[in-house]
Amino acid sequence: MLYIDAKFVGSISYKLRNFKKKADYYWNFSCPICGDSKKNPLKARGFVFKNQQRLVYKCHNCGFSSNIGNLIKYLDPMLYNEYILERYKENTSKHNDHVNITSVLPELLNEHSTKLSQDLVTAGAKSVALLPEDHPAVQYVSKRLIPKDRWKDIYFAPKFKEFVNNLKFQYSKTDNDTPRLIIPFFDKDDKCIAFQGRAFGNEVPKYVTIKLDETQEKIYGLDRMDHNKQIYVTEGPIDSMFIPNAIAVAGAGFDTKFINAIKDNATLIMDNEPRSKEICKFIEKLIDQEYSICLWPETIVEKDINEMVMTGKSISQILETINNNTFSGMQAKLKFTTWKKC
Ligand SMILES: [Zn+2]
Repeated sequence: MLYIDAKFVGSISYKLRNFKKKADYYWNFSCPICGDSKKNPLKARGFVFKNQQRLVYKCHNCGFSSNIGNLIKYLDPMLYNEYILERYKENTSKHNDHVNITSVLPELLNEHSTKLSQDLVTAGAKSVALLPEDHPAVQYVSKRLIPKDRWKDIYFAPKFKEFVNNLKFQYSKTDNDTPRLIIPFFDKDDKCIAFQGRAFGNEVPKYVTIKLDETQEKIYGLDRMDHNKQIYVTEGPIDSMFIPNAIAVAGAGFDTKFINAIKDNATLIMDNEPRSKEICKFIEKLIDQEYSICLWPETIVEKDINEMVMTGKSISQILETINNNTFSGMQAKLKFTTWKKC
């Protein structure tokens, strides 16, 4: 981890006045927190140094001290995302030197073995958990910080149309076939009822959802859902992977037969997108129908849960925000009048 910290000190140095490397793992510059100082621009009382296997920052003028991550986050949030990602990668690669298979194999063989849908594999897809680390699909899920225990439920199809046709006839032409990430939807009996294919490039549409069982609604996560607990309902399957007991409607809209049936213990979480007239109308309708709905506070700038995770928010922070901003009935109506900007 130390070398990653050191590398990012270099990357952030463009923001630091009087930046100087003084020794190994020892840097000095003008403190960006206090300005250090207005009167004498040559003052440099901020120091980065080694503390165990991490780098820390301390200013001898204002007394500010933190780990290097917080300093990077303060100076350049975009760079901070990269920093988090590299540390995450390092962390995961440390625990399995060859391929990811070592860490997930016991799980694959035990409780989830039924879910490793043989149909999907036969049709030409591979579980991301079984792919080598430098595979684009693995790079994608690790970049999005998708929890590792969910990788086995995400697949990769090198030729999407061909893969779909192997499961059910859909494409009469399979030319210009491209790879897609496959997110299967299982029902409570672990049967694959649908799947979403996500493009890696600029292919349109970005998401394709294919139903395998026409009699069932396209709800993601039914295989993991516990009816007796609070159920969080997100729009996208990936967002739901970060939250306990969460399912996703995957473009089907929230007002469906299934969601209606679990209304009493469901929290609807829409993306934090611009408040268009259309969306406001839709939310108002859900409130009228007595759904509990999360109205993201203005302090949240990220567009969805995954983005919140990627900007460094913890799951408990996100859950707290959701729980503190979920309303229903009269309270929701009141809150909504001040919340809506359209
Ligand atoms: Zn300072």
